[in-house]
Amino acid sequence: MKRNVTVIGAGIVGISCASYLQRDGHQVTVIDRLPPGEGCSFGNAGGMSPGSCVPVAMPGMAKQIPQWLMDPLGPLSIRWNYLLPALPWLIRFLRAGKREEVERIADGIRALLDGVFDNYAPLIKAAGAEHLVHSRAGQMYVWRTEAAFNGDQLGLKLRRDRGITVEVLDKHELRQREPALAPIFEKGVVFPQHGHCSNPFRLVQTLAEHFQRSGGTILKREVTGFARGGDRVTGVATDAGEVKSDNVVIAAGAWSARLARQLGAHIPLEAQRGYHVTVADPGVGPRINVMWADAKFMATPMEMGLRFAGTVELAGLEAAPDYRRARKLLELGKTMYPGLKDAKVTEWMGHRPCTPDTLPVIDFAPGRKDVVFAFGHGHTGLSGASTTGKLVAEMVAGSKPSIDLKPYSATRF
Ligand SMILES: Cc1cc2nc3c(=O)[nH]c(=O)nc-3n(C[C@H](O)[C@H](O)[C@H](O)COP(=O)(O)OP(=O)(O)OC[C@H]3O[C@@H](n4cnc5c(N)ncnc54)[C@H](O)[C@@H]3O)c2cc1C
Repeated sequence: MKRNVTVIGAGIVGISCASYLQRDGHQVTVIDRLPPGEGCSFGNAGGMSPGSCVPVAMPGMAKQIPQWLMDPLGPLSIRWNYLLPALPWLIRFLRAGKREEVERIADGIRALLDGVFDNYAPLIKAAGAEHLVHSRAGQMYVWRTEAAFNGDQLGLKLRRDRGITVEVLDKHELRQREPALAPIFEKGVVFPQHGHCSNPFRLVQTLAEHFQRSGGTILKREVTGFARGGDRVTGVATDAGEVKSDNVVIAAGAWSARLARQLGAHIPLEAQRGYHVTVADPGVGPRINVMWADAKFMATPMEMGLRFAGTVELAGLEAAPDYRRARKLLELGKTMYPGLKDAKVTEWMGHRPCTPDTLPVIDFAPGRKDVVFAFGHGHTGLSGASTTGKLVAEMVAGSKPSIDLKPYSATRF
């Protein structure tokens, strides 16, 4: 049955959902207070990684917490004044890092990310965005010391056990593959099944433009709540009036839990803030997406130049960005690529929508069939969005989802 569907959020997840719903023949409206792609999806590292199934919480993390608090510019930091508000989420996060849990979680992430390229393919073809997506171009991880590499063996095993090819490289092989890389890295791996997007913001924009050309509507408004008629949700309330709809999809990224709460769902969702610097005309750089694994950031060749993006800061949705963290990325980037020209640099901060167990929520709102949750994609939302879009369209159609949705349940917490 063809319906009116409203999608809240015009990030990569919302636009992917809207595109798939539109392909099913529904009349789709997307609402966002910002233009498409200006939330977290604007400035990510562009990694498109079917094998990024390693949970963010891993065994032994609890002992690192003092370090997270002491080093405000470290790869993972917590602002002191945010420790108390974040505590309930942090406790769940550490519990999710138990050995037996990470296997289960890795299965769930892997299932969602596996179809990244196949499920983007029809969308990017229709929108003419093929030039932005470098499917299976390969992705490299590098470690500065053998000890750091050895410390990440469980992560590599989780990937290998789930069908991801991991090619281990020594110091010399690394430089052969990526000649611009400084000779400071002892170990590396290549994931040949991975790829990257060379302009994540343009990707959302291009898909959104195609969605509009094909009859979809995008409204620039703030969603404040839901309209109801008896038991049913009949639309969304916005700062400029009500938008009627048969079905609503909440794809509002890190802000989704506030909306879900209005429907009685308490989803632990924390913003893991990440930063980037993008260097125009850098003079040097990688050919593919390269992750400095022990520093927790990626270097990606983008249309706009070379982007260094990553790291995690827990400070909530309201605190001002701490751009010293972006400048730290630039400093590390210069260590990674000696000779980097940094005359033209832009900085950015975005809020990753993160559940404690790394898995997103892709489910009906508890007890209803008229609202779908599609949020919480954390560090891999660009990679998980295309399959999420397909799944959400299947849920709205009432057909059997193409993968088991149990790992993404809204009632698992
Ligand atoms: C530094 C960094 C690097 C990253 N690197 C990668 C990577 O390499 N690969 C990868 O796969 N992922 C990566 N990610 C993660 C990825 O960017 C996110 O998971 C993804 O962008 C989340 O998309 P989204 O659509 O859920 O959220 P968003 O892009 O944030 O979109 C949500 C939208 O909802 C809107 N909204 C919220 N509430 C309301 C409301 N009440 N009314 C109206 N509008 C509302 C917001 O304005 C926003 O536009 C990275 C993230 C960061 C920060």
